[in-house]
Amino acid sequence: MLKIKSLLLVSLFLVVSLSVPLFAETNQRITDIRFWQSPEEAQVVLDLSQPPKVSDVGRLNNGSLFFDIKSCIFKPGHQRYSLQNQFLESLSVQQNEIDGSTRVFFKVPRSVEAKTFVLPSNERKSDRIVIFLREPQAKLLQKQTAELNEVKKLKAENIKIIVLDPGHGGEDPGTSCNGIVEKSYVLAMAKLVKAYFDRDPRYKAILTREADYIIPLEKRREIAERLGADAFVSIHVNWNVKKAINGIEVYYESPKGAVNEADRLVADKENKADFATIGSTNPVLAASKNQIAQMQANIMDQSRQLAEKVEYKLANALPNMPSRGVKRAGFRVLHSLNMPSILVEYGYTSNKIDSEILKDYTSRTKLAQALYAGISNFLQTKVEGGIDAEYLEYYKAMNAKKAKLEADKKKKAALKKNTNSKAANSKTKKSAGKTQKYTVKHGDTLSGIAKKYGVSVQAIKTANKMKKTDVIKSNQILIIPAK
Ligand SMILES: [Zn+2]
Repeated sequence: MLKIKSLLLVSLFLVVSLSVPLFAETNQRITDIRFWQSPEEAQVVLDLSQPPKVSDVGRLNNGSLFFDIKSCIFKPGHQRYSLQNQFLESLSVQQNEIDGSTRVFFKVPRSVEAKTFVLPSNERKSDRIVIFLREPQAKLLQKQTAELNEVKKLKAENIKIIVLDPGHGGEDPGTSCNGIVEKSYVLAMAKLVKAYFDRDPRYKAILTREADYIIPLEKRREIAERLGADAFVSIHVNWNVKKAINGIEVYYESPKGAVNEADRLVADKENKADFATIGSTNPVLAASKNQIAQMQANIMDQSRQLAEKVEYKLANALPNMPSRGVKRAGFRVLHSLNMPSILVEYGYTSNKIDSEILKDYTSRTKLAQALYAGISNFLQTKVEGGIDAEYLEYYKAMNAKKAKLEADKKKKAALKKNTNSKAANSKTKKSAGKTQKYTVKHGDTLSGIAKKYGVSVQAIKTANKMKKTDVIKSNQILIIPAK
């Protein structure tokens, strides 16, 4: 997210340093205001020090919208932000000196839908008020339908679709070293790779982001899935505290990442079961966990082939940029079941030689061309049918381990239950060691009762203050002394 006012940090410091709040009943403060946007939506986020009390959204005659945060301190009292973009014309925040509330005004163009909501704090973020802005749903759907029609046309003409994903963006800059900021660098690199595909009529390359904004990792995959992409390639540069480490790496999904994803898909499916529509065409919704694993093993083998072809080209692109080979990792962006997916790390910004190569324009074009050539090579040669046997083995081993853990847990629980009942038993036994009461039945003899409880006749007599000649009667309550 783009910080729209670093000045706010200064004002926050000022507020924090005041030990007595202006308004006695609250410590509520706006601690930051952040803003981000993608081509389809934008958000203004107000970070707060406490869960806020927020009024409904009202509208002024000039079309401005507003809401009040009750008992909330805002410094420096009145701030106006001029945000010239397609979603938001203006934003201003004003402290009401009389009732201690803070009023937030915002104005959106007529075509934009605005929603405000409150989000509770979590381990990483504070309480927030979000102003969510987007193009009207109808317009968005229209755009997506046009996109799908375009995809159908491309598929009919056997034109392959490649989705290039420049990593990071917006408030997530990625690594930053030796004059290279990852989010900007990989965007430029992705555009360079796309240019090679644009010149080749066999391909259509699409970027997940075309400017400096952040996209959630799942959404990057979803864009490629929605477009029916034939390959998904995420582009990054690496960093390491050990400055000597250098070279290119190409990643595809790891068995561990895939197992976790299989678990997540099954859990997600169960959560979504209530909403599943009859006749749904989503194959994952109809698949069992084992079938999902098969699909994963299948697509992972294709990802391996793509990774190997790309790595081969990249390894031979520049004499002084070595390859560290094909590797596997559980990157969320690589979890797709629909298309082969890889992640390219174009060298280490933390390494002097790598960073010089990465900054050199001729080297960059060679690296971009090599990626294009590797992807093209994969898409033009027949994909070998295969499955990732390593994954299926791992999947089976993990399932066996899970089953064993489950069985052990059950065994433990049963054992605990047993121990508990044993403890209860010993309690009864213990109580047998204590003084008890016995109601005499017809036909009982004192010696019989004494034998039954393992005590002497005399002991019973003493406990009940009986004389030598006293006899027991039916329904008499006897105290049985402890053994
Ligand atoms: Zn990265």
